[in-house]
Amino acid sequence: MSTQQQFETVIVGAGQAGLAAGYHLKKRGRPFLILDANERIGDTWRNRWDSLRLFTPAKYDRLPGMRFRARRWSFPTKDEMADYLEGYAARFDLPVRTGVTVDRISRNGERYVVETSEGTFEADNLVVASGAHRLPKVPRFARELDSRIVQMHSSEYRNPAQLRDGGVLVVGLGNSGAEIAFELSRTHTTLVAGKAGGEIPVRHGGIAARFVLPVIRFLGYHVLTKGTPIGRKVGPKLAAKATPLIRVKSQDLAAAGIERVARVAGVREGRPLLEDGRVLDVSNVIWCTGFRDDFSWIEVPAFDHDGAPRHERGIASVPGLYFVGLIFQYAVSSDVLPGVGRDAEYVAKHIVRLGARTRGAASGGAAGLTPRELEVMQLVAAGKSNRDIAAALSISENTVARHVQNILTKLEVPSRTAATAFAFQHELV
Ligand SMILES: Cc1cc2nc3c(=O)[nH]c(=O)nc-3n(C[C@H](O)[C@H](O)[C@H](O)COP(=O)(O)OP(=O)(O)OC[C@H]3O[C@@H](n4cnc5c(N)ncnc54)[C@H](O)[C@@H]3O)c2cc1C
Repeated sequence: MSTQQQFETVIVGAGQAGLAAGYHLKKRGRPFLILDANERIGDTWRNRWDSLRLFTPAKYDRLPGMRFRARRWSFPTKDEMADYLEGYAARFDLPVRTGVTVDRISRNGERYVVETSEGTFEADNLVVASGAHRLPKVPRFARELDSRIVQMHSSEYRNPAQLRDGGVLVVGLGNSGAEIAFELSRTHTTLVAGKAGGEIPVRHGGIAARFVLPVIRFLGYHVLTKGTPIGRKVGPKLAAKATPLIRVKSQDLAAAGIERVARVAGVREGRPLLEDGRVLDVSNVIWCTGFRDDFSWIEVPAFDHDGAPRHERGIASVPGLYFVGLIFQYAVSSDVLPGVGRDAEYVAKHIVRLGARTRGAASGGAAGLTPRELEVMQLVAAGKSNRDIAAALSISENTVARHVQNILTKLEVPSRTAATAFAFQHELV
């Protein structure tokens, strides 16, 4: 089917990030459409393993505007979370089209062209909320495992019934690895390969957690952000590391009789080979080796050499493109429920402001700045040099200088400082 529909803003993804962005746009009266590949809102959570409960308490699992109906310090099941998201979209009447996969995004002049399984859409703004945990990461040598070994990524694991009789090797000791290994130890001889990236020093769910979780939340939300020196120093390191074990810890694994083994180095004669040279005779392997981003479907020059988005707090270097839900987008909590709402609001406000100014400019308002000049003005107001602005917008320094000159002329001010003051006074930034 091929359709061509025009929208002010298209949001890709109706998970927590996309819905929160939708909420903030709706609150500000802006039109938009959310597209999601899943058949039902919340399916990302529904499709996680059966026994999964959230690590974050209900108190912190709410999105802006709607509380999570559960005891504040209880840990909802993954299906309760999924239903909450579905209820959230219904409560605020957010326009979501499910069962629509976005295959490609490109740019046509100032607009975004969104090619999907249900036809083509066009939008002034594009919000990518497709999830930081998108593509399963599995080592290449996994395909060399003997075909009689049942293997799957943690994203495919549901319950022990999927496994064969015999031993199971869980590869990776993040929270998924620890929880899945713990569950499997009741039915299978279980080994876990890899080292944990630390653990939270109190019992999860216990009274102590009521005092510790607020502290962790405070640090992750207010302190470890791109807005603080400590956050800029520590945040990227934390984001690159595995999350510390939260609920199932090393001593729980030991008590459950789970054997800890060295990292998996490869495959020998169809069986997992460890770094210490040991070869394991197991019937099952679960790869709890994490996820990676994939933005290859967004054909817009907004990514660095590693494919990571170039952005500031979710505002991409290319005008009109936004992200919500990235790891360390602004804070250590950006990709989880307690942090995503703030980032969504920041992005929505930018869309609204820019849209208002563009509409204003079209009718002679906003001092007549063009959308590009407004982008430049924002970066000038953020204290960026012409060189930084050129890099952020992928244009030459000469072009930046020309835009700055036009801005000064249109605003009738003598300097960048005066332009910045004007911009703040007139809410141009
Ligand atoms: C096992 C596990 C447990 C977690 N537990 C917690 C927890 O307890 N507390 C917490 O705060 N966080 C937790 N997280 C982290 C995070 O909150 C979740 O991963 C959450 O689902 C992220 O929400 P999101 O909206 O960013 O992305 P997602 O939930 O992944 O939603 C993205 C949506 O985008 C859609 N999409 C993607 N690409 C396309 C495309 N090309 N076209 C159309 N649609 C597309 C997908 O269908 C999906 O619905 C957990 C993560 C995992 C993996």
